[in-house]
Amino acid sequence: MELNESSPDKHVWSLTSSGQYTAKSAYTALFNGAIAFEPFERIWKTWAPPKCRFFMWLVAHNRCWTADRLAKRGLPHPDVCILCDQHEEDLHHLLVGCVFARIFWFTFLSHFGVATLAPTPADQNFEEWWRKMDGAVQSDLRRGGNSLVILGAWSIWRHRNDCVFDNVTPNVNSVLHLAKEEAGRWSAAGAKGISLISAGLQLSWGSLLVALVFLPR
Ligand SMILES: [Zn+2]
Repeated sequence: MELNESSPDKHVWSLTSSGQYTAKSAYTALFNGAIAFEPFERIWKTWAPPKCRFFMWLVAHNRCWTADRLAKRGLPHPDVCILCDQHEEDLHHLLVGCVFARIFWFTFLSHFGVATLAPTPADQNFEEWWRKMDGAVQSDLRRGGNSLVILGAWSIWRHRNDCVFDNVTPNVNSVLHLAKEEAGRWSAAGAKGISLISAGLQLSWGSLLVALVFLPR
């Protein structure tokens, strides 16, 4: 099935049965998430701005509009993952299972000297990979590590949408560019330490490591 570009986007709020946004449903969802949701700390203790934290909350609850969810609702959806053109698209595939995503993570994390933390072909579940990665990072570097995960996932999602909706050709360098731009915005908004992440896209891990260790937490 092709996406029909002539039909306008339909916005459906997934937290109420009517599909209509209500502040109460959003508040309840966030509040419930604060209690029951295991990656809560990992999402909130980062330098990510609210829009990216909310995106991660949607990821954690599998509420992003990937092809599998669109198909379930009978909505137009891409037949295969737009990034690899091989596999059906679901959230875990898109963020870690996809060969394109793995190349991105490897390249992205290489800039920070932690390419060994990139997902391997055995990592097919985003949350499990994140939990594993978080456990492998020294405790005083976790805020930086989790910020990198959110920055990477957000950038993959944005690039995926550029490819699906704007006919952009999948390209790992484009995702890296999006990540760099986004890190710049976080920095401009005053996020503590995020300028070091931007710097990590140019500097060696050594200087970044030293800087992250001495960041206020
Ligand atoms: Zn794919």
